[in-house]
Amino acid sequence: MIRGRFAPSPTGYLHLGNARTALVAWCVAQQAGGQWVMRIEDIDRDRSKAEYLTANLRELRWLGLTWDEGANVGGAYGPYEQHKRTNLYEAALEQLEQHPNIHLFNCYLSRKDLRELASAPHASSSTPVYGPAERELNAHLKEAKQQAGKQPSVRLAMPDKNISFTDELAGHQIVNVAEAMGDIVLKRADGMWAYHLAVVVDDIAMNINQVVRGDDLLTSTAAHLVLYEAFDAVPPSYLHVPLLLDENGERIAKRQGGYTLTALQESDVQPERVLGFLAYSLNLQPHLEPMELAEVLGQFSLERIPKTPFQLTSEHLAWLAS
Ligand code: GLU
Repeated sequence: MIRGRFAPSPTGYLHLGNARTALVAWCVAQQAGGQWVMRIEDIDRDRSKAEYLTANLRELRWLGLTWDEGANVGGAYGPYEQHKRTNLYEAALEQLEQHPNIHLFNCYLSRKDLRELASAPHASSSTPVYGPAERELNAHLKEAKQQAGKQPSVRLAMPDKNISFTDELAGHQIVNVAEAMGDIVLKRADGMWAYHLAVVVDDIAMNINQVVRGDDLLTSTAAHLVLYEAFDAVPPSYLHVPLLLDENGERIAKRQGGYTLTALQESDVQPERVLGFLAYSLNLQPHLEPMELAEVLGQFSLERIPKTPFQLTSEHLAWLAS
């Protein structure tokens, strides 16, 4: 039995890009006759808001998407809100601490330390990963930071190896995890759990065997696979959906407001228009026409989904609002 999931972070309203990924995830699970689980990734207690959780579920329902299990529905694998699952993350961290091939360490570096190191003349990349230079600085400053009472984060010393996997859309991937991801945080200095640990622990615990999500997480998958191996668990199949870009070719962010489902609903856009636009952007229909959810599912085929990002234009937005 296929068990897929959608895992929104209730840090804002869902935008068209989130909806597009949710639609693909839903269609893939439906076509396989599988189950679809709604998990709420609300471990970031500063940014997650109960009102957004309510809104996100309403937004998905507005499109007609329903889930078999999860938030507001319940099921055998609950609780479905990550902030209620921290005992599992604690146990997982302990398991990793005992693991013969996994090395965890306390990191005392602040964001400022990391930023300064990254802007040093020798720094090679604009998006620095935590690597040897950071480890060295951490070792150097550790004692002073401990004495000053600084709480550490817990990081995983990423093995220097290539991880390969096959994404159902993007194809075969080979990622050097140390270079691409570096020593990822598992538990933050403020005690909050990090996404990379929680997502793997929950997908394993909830028996998820199909992960559909935005392709901004394609590289992170390699780090997740390091954790699957450490937990001796079978990884799910992965399908990363290329992103929807705004009119300027930038990735759409929730804070941009205008592209959220709630904003569209408030301006009286019909859900069939949103579905029609999403289906068009996914190459499931040749023209912009309103569509029912059942029709989208009928047209859905993985082969048709574009492997490149889709850029929104002002014409699309005008059509949505027409
Ligand atoms: N919570 C993540 C997000 O909202 C999704 C992560 C995942 O699907 O693995 O972007």
